[in-house]
Amino acid sequence: MYDIKSLKAEEFISHQEILDTLAYAEANKHNEKLISEVIEKAKLRKGLTHREAILLLDCDIEEKNQEIYALAEQIKKDFYGNRIVMFAPLYLSNYCVNGCVYCPYHAKNKHIARKQLSQEEIVKEVVALQDMGHKRLALETGEDPVNCPIEYVLESIKTIYSIKHKNGEIRRVNVNIAATTVENYRKLKDAGIGTYILFQETYHKESYEKLHPTGPKHNYTYHTEAMDRAMEGGIDDVGIGVLFGLELFRYEFVGLLMHAEHLEAVHGVGPHTISVPRIRHADDIDPNAFDNGIDDETFAKLVACIRISVPYTGMIVSTRESQKCREKVLHLGISQVSGGSRTSVGGYDHPEEEDDNSSQFDVSDNRTLDEVVNWLMRLGYIPSFCTACYREGRTGDRFMSLCKSGQILNCCHPNALMTLKEYLLDYASEDTRRIGYELIKNEIGNVPKEKIREILCRNLEEIEEGKRDFRF
Ligand code: SF4
Ligand code: SF4
Repeated sequence: MYDIKSLKAEEFISHQEILDTLAYAEANKHNEKLISEVIEKAKLRKGLTHREAILLLDCDIEEKNQEIYALAEQIKKDFYGNRIVMFAPLYLSNYCVNGCVYCPYHAKNKHIARKQLSQEEIVKEVVALQDMGHKRLALETGEDPVNCPIEYVLESIKTIYSIKHKNGEIRRVNVNIAATTVENYRKLKDAGIGTYILFQETYHKESYEKLHPTGPKHNYTYHTEAMDRAMEGGIDDVGIGVLFGLELFRYEFVGLLMHAEHLEAVHGVGPHTISVPRIRHADDIDPNAFDNGIDDETFAKLVACIRISVPYTGMIVSTRESQKCREKVLHLGISQVSGGSRTSVGGYDHPEEEDDNSSQFDVSDNRTLDEVVNWLMRLGYIPSFCTACYREGRTGDRFMSLCKSGQILNCCHPNALMTLKEYLLDYASEDTRRIGYELIKNEIGNVPKEKIREILCRNLEEIEEGKRDFRF
């Protein structure tokens, strides 16, 4: 039975409720009046329920679809402006005891080189990332209690935060590791992580169990309830996502929103981010073996409908997606992108390792961070290296109240400009620097409060003189 507040996976992600929701949407996909009502509700920018949201996703009335895209674009502008936060993944270890059939790190893959970075190797990777200009990382590991225990992850986080190379520093470490215990989540919180990220992969229990035939990840309930344990352990920024292509996207969309509704209902704060990865080619993995792939158009509709349904939740698209596809969805709701990513263990210090078969997935967007920053600015976006909220303790509901108070423009915008200026001075190519300076000059006026604008201008001058790390 569906119960949004239950702590049992099968009750807050009720299979029957998802089926009923899909049937309801199917029956109403030409119901213009109902769809119009939902669009009107969405315009209030307070989000939609999963039942309302699926009506928009399934809508096949052309005129209404144009309204949906326009609204997603407007909500994205109102909440996130033209800023895009930059990050990079850092793979620490590809040892894994699980059997996920879509991932090359699965335990039975014998032709992949297994590797765990030593603390010295982590230093090298982080220096390479800092020299690119990154300030925000997402740590990635396989699940292996022997070769990659929680103590190793904690030590690695400590190492990463301690490295100060030239003007570089990693200011926020997000962590994407396997579902674990409340006690371990508490340890991660104490280690100062930003967001805890865990993808559900699929919300469809039966498929989930088939796709994860062996290892601890086989346990659907334990995996699905992980975010509740993380929140119990004190982590209040969590990132959810599914791997599109494994199951039917309509099912996943409803499951994803039900998960977000559940977290909000139980913990008073929804997910901090939603990721929308699609399955990609990798060693031992053929994406064509999964018949639920989605085309670029469906992908864009998904992004737009998620944006409308959870306006306060950041949305992430990685280098799994091509430049062309990323360009298509940025304005519809994406707030964070990765750039210059390496998806193998040790790939930043030794880029050639990326060319062997040890990447978790093939990267579609192979450009350097400088090229991505340059491209974003040419499209009219402000690449932001901001990590201010986390460092000011604005996490969980404090972050949400900042969003809801409408003050985010007085924080995010100047922070984006200041961190971009740091990037331009320390890491950018000449062309990128030239475009960036022009952009900053034009964007200062878009900070609403005069007082903040004054401080911003002062700080920008001080950054020019060599000072770093200002934030609102
Ligand atoms: Fe291991 Fe994660 Fe890959 Fe599954 S998806 S095989 S848990 S690394
Ligand atoms: Fe993100 Fe906070 Fe920085 Fe805005 S001010 S970009 S919400 S970290």
